[in-house]
Amino acid sequence: MSIASQIDFFNTELAGTAARLVVVTKTHAVDKLQEVYAAGSRIFGENRAQEMAEKHPQLPPDVEWHLIGHLQTNKARYIAGFVHTVQSIDSLRLLQELDRQAARHGRVILGLLQFHIAQEAAKTGLSRAEADEILASAAFRALRHVRLTGVMGIATFTDDAAQVRAEFATLRGHFEHLKATYFADDAGFRELSMGMSGDYALALAEGSTLVRVGSAIFGAR
Ligand SMILES: *Cc1c(COP(=O)(O)O)cnc(C)c1O
Repeated sequence: MSIASQIDFFNTELAGTAARLVVVTKTHAVDKLQEVYAAGSRIFGENRAQEMAEKHPQLPPDVEWHLIGHLQTNKARYIAGFVHTVQSIDSLRLLQELDRQAARHGRVILGLLQFHIAQEAAKTGLSRAEADEILASAAFRALRHVRLTGVMGIATFTDDAAQVRAEFATLRGHFEHLKATYFADDAGFRELSMGMSGDYALALAEGSTLVRVGSAIFGAR
């Protein structure tokens, strides 16, 4: 199965839904990313800042780079000059550092708040109370170079479809709460990033707008 035919498959799956495809290119060499680009995809997901920074100059400038892995504040500077969206925002401190770095480049970085929705303790992300604390703060409202456009979450890795769907429904609930409470007048707050190779169909059923697919396109890592 070629990369191009797998991307065609996902574009067909997403046709008629609200969702766009994030091709998760982490660990793959630049020639594979060029194949993805040639197949027409423009949203690339990487989980490490340094790896993204190395690949970025080797791809055309119209790629939308999304960081989907945990970002340490001291690594934000590697990607601040070009990253489109940081999907994995999990603290006010990270928002403040991204704001500072984006300002140095005279640009605005988009962000998603990552929520903890899985049962596994290992998966990171905010609780609703933590997100409320960030969004209600004067420190958040003072930021001018980061703009939140939605939420992201990773479901439990399990065959139990009912559980995964319930976790996606929980994330949608967080999105709707934040939208109503803090972003009612902001049409730009509209992204619900959920769904990966194994669970994207359940995520689409719950209203995903960004599905992040790696292994189903490239083969197992
Ligand atoms: C690796 C990764 C994906 C893609 O996972 P696949 O199962 O390979 O599709 C999606 N989201 C995040 C946050 C990831 O780290």
